[in-house]
Amino acid sequence: VAKPDPILTASHIRRSFGGLTAVNVDHLEVQRGTITALIGPNGAGKSTLFNLLTGFDKPNEGTWSFQGQPLNGVAGHRVARRGMVRTFQLTKALTRLTVLENMLLAAPGQVGEGFFGAFGWWMWRRQEQANRERAMELLARFKLDAKKDDIAGSLSGGQRKLLEMARALMVNPSMVMLDEPMAGVNPALVQSLLGHITALRDEGTTVLFVEHDMDVIMGISDWIVVLAQGQVIAEGRPSDVRSDQQVIDAYLGT
Ligand code: ADP
Ligand code: MG
Repeated sequence: VAKPDPILTASHIRRSFGGLTAVNVDHLEVQRGTITALIGPNGAGKSTLFNLLTGFDKPNEGTWSFQGQPLNGVAGHRVARRGMVRTFQLTKALTRLTVLENMLLAAPGQVGEGFFGAFGWWMWRRQEQANRERAMELLARFKLDAKKDDIAGSLSGGQRKLLEMARALMVNPSMVMLDEPMAGVNPALVQSLLGHITALRDEGTTVLFVEHDMDVIMGISDWIVVLAQGQVIAEGRPSDVRSDQQVIDAYLGT
């Protein structure tokens, strides 16, 4: 067993909505360089936990750190700049933009803020050029380069998922969080998405993902965390989780 090397560590994360405790996680670690699956029934708190960890929602209590630096209270766009990103479904507004425009909007913040005059302009141009190059590289990787000038709304369900993943990679993250990346994707594209996810892991990017399809989960995960009613009820390697009666009752049996 490899020595633990968590890229993300969270403690006592609680989020309530009125009287409902959506998330109540005592301890969670994601090991660097793994594909970790977060599974659990509908309403278990998976998406809420993603929102909390990435700074898009605030917990009632809890602390967490990424790459050794505390992240509590850090806003979403800053969390992304530190190397932890989550995917977002393309909003209506984004579907009206082209594929390339979507990529450029997801680019890291402009450098040269605070610089004026010719030097500021030069810095800005350089950043623009770098963003464009990175965008085209990623679009090629996801086989979307031929569609760069198409309106994002014209993409198939599966291609949209690829674009969502490509957008997240614009900040060159150390860790990506994917919330149901296969939802609504036809089986042919599921294989391609899985290939992309394992390729990311093999390049050293840590992946935390939420998924329902047990074959997918068992097939690509290095570690599985089971959430039920906001709490981690079990975790382990796929084979361990599969044989855990509590997990079967809470999740697999349904
Ligand atoms: P999952 O992603 O595991 O299906 P969610 O995190 O979306 O679960 O939801 C967990 C629980 O929190 C659910 O009972 C859901 O109804 C509730 N919840 C999520 N977001 C909100 C919100 N903004 N306001 C009120 N309740 C919410
Ligand atoms: Mg969800």
